[in-house]
Amino acid sequence: MSGEPAQPDTLAAMFRRLIASTGPISLMHYMGEANARYYGSKDPLGSAGDFITAPEISQMFGELIGLWLADMWINAGREEPVHYVELGPGRGTLAVDALRVAKRYGLEPQVHLVETSAELKDVQLAALPQAQWHHDLSTVPPYGPILLVANEFLDALPVRQLVKTPDGWRERMVVPEGERFVCVAGSQPMDAAVPEARRGAEVGTIIETCPGAAATVYEVAGRLVEQGGAALFIDYGHDQIRDGSTLQAVRDHLKVDPFVNPGEADLTAHVDFATLAPIALSRGCKWLGTVPQGRWLRNLGIEARAQALSERAPEHSAAIASARDRLIGEGQMGLLFKVMGLASPSWPGGAGF
Ligand code: SAH
Repeated sequence: MSGEPAQPDTLAAMFRRLIASTGPISLMHYMGEANARYYGSKDPLGSAGDFITAPEISQMFGELIGLWLADMWINAGREEPVHYVELGPGRGTLAVDALRVAKRYGLEPQVHLVETSAELKDVQLAALPQAQWHHDLSTVPPYGPILLVANEFLDALPVRQLVKTPDGWRERMVVPEGERFVCVAGSQPMDAAVPEARRGAEVGTIIETCPGAAATVYEVAGRLVEQGGAALFIDYGHDQIRDGSTLQAVRDHLKVDPFVNPGEADLTAHVDFATLAPIALSRGCKWLGTVPQGRWLRNLGIEARAQALSERAPEHSAAIASARDRLIGEGQMGLLFKVMGLASPSWPGGAGF
């Protein structure tokens, strides 16, 4: 065995070796490994990071979520023990803001954070020392209602893309080309994976699905039916079925090519909420609705909350107004981002939907 410890290889180099020895990898494999490397190696959030999320824009976001959760829990009869569960909690900011408000209403749940990134887990530990961490939902306690939040979590899960070729449907695969990677059609027929109604689409049509998002919603909905509780999935995405690739990469607050330097930018895809609601319903869960984030936050009183914060700190009123507009403005996050609410069938309907 020879001397120096090897530098960790870039993911691009690993992919090149893998593809050279075993053939093209699926786009889903490419995206999954790229994001595992990306989130495992850095804290990507905030102005010094690659992108900024709603809870990092303003405390109002997490506070209104905390209010919504407390309202649901109180109306459902204040059952204990109760669990706050967050998927992909980032820097823990949303949880801190939500739990601070919930406590004012007597809601002090056990805190469970589902996070795979060791780097972000350290940041979360400093913000939420009382929390328990989980690698996935399977170890979250199976008793007591669950109040679950996932903000910009589903969009990071790998998507699978199928493309219609003259020879039928194929999975989109990734191969190197010069300095970058490109997509090619795989060799296996995939027609059986395409719903019958969409099989006859034109050559070149791309269908994107996210098996991880579907599995997550399936599991959460089942937990809500069995244990009681409610869930909010918040993400950018569409509530109508549609075709095409929505894969994108963001680095340093700019869109970059997803096929250059995998693992160094955040890869995301639009969340297909149109497919997720029926999955929840199929488990007997209540679907409260999927509405634009701007409308939901307005319904919960973000304008009054911004006003109250400004009166307390007039020197920050311009910043508070600009954060509010970023969260609800139609050309900003207000329309593109959606809030999907789910609840146990024995729980009340939720505010804002
Ligand atoms: N919700 C936070 C962070 C969004 S970024 C916010 O709104 O600011 C995506 C988060 O999901 C990160 O915490 C990332 O580490 C985590 N994540 C990504 N893929 C994951 C997976 N497969 N399982 C668990 N967490 C994951």
